[in-house]
Amino acid sequence: MKRKVLEMTMSVMLLLGFFLLSQEAASAVSQEETAKKIVIDAGHGGRDPGMVGTEGVEEKGINLAIAQKLENLLEENGFEVIMTRDSDEGLYEEDAQNKKAQDMQRRCEIIKEAEPLLTVSIHQNSYSDPSVKGPQVFYYQHSAEGEKLASFIQNSMNEGLEAESPKEAKANDSYYLLKRSEGVLNIVECGFLTNPEEALRLQEEDYQQKIAGCIYEGIMQYLEKM
Ligand SMILES: [Zn+2]
Repeated sequence: MKRKVLEMTMSVMLLLGFFLLSQEAASAVSQEETAKKIVIDAGHGGRDPGMVGTEGVEEKGINLAIAQKLENLLEENGFEVIMTRDSDEGLYEEDAQNKKAQDMQRRCEIIKEAEPLLTVSIHQNSYSDPSVKGPQVFYYQHSAEGEKLASFIQNSMNEGLEAESPKEAKANDSYYLLKRSEGVLNIVECGFLTNPEEALRLQEEDYQQKIAGCIYEGIMQYLEKM
């Protein structure tokens, strides 16, 4: 009798073991599926040109060009990329009362639904002093992970783009996307459209590719440390 009980106990434990192993395998698979998702947000678009540089160059087009180059890099390396926009269109309805608000809300909704590892929002900077130039990355003040990602991307860009006066990643608690989006998000200001020299470079395809490469490297360094 005792032996029967022992045998029963053993087989129950064996079954339990198999069950637990299979659960673990299943969750590893689903983790792998979500682990590779990244959202890229090309700032502005459509009626909203973003910053307009001295020669009339619009920020929205540069943002999209860099975003698409980063998308290619990530996809080539096995990531699933969700773009908030992939053409010159905003995310608002033509009859919306407040197009900018609707556009921003929809960007946040896309991020929320995707549940990515992280999000990068691509923008170009501006400043009253035209001599100011170079990349700068922003993160939400209350996000430790956002800060980590931002310093990796900032350092990678400072080095890769040979920034003459390298900036540090900067905390911010007022930008809509930083405040309202879920998960880890950085706003990457690639350069200043108010600096004539940088404004020209930002329109060159080679330089855009270089920027995308730097952001990609920063993301990889952050993911390795995670
Ligand atoms: Zn912008």
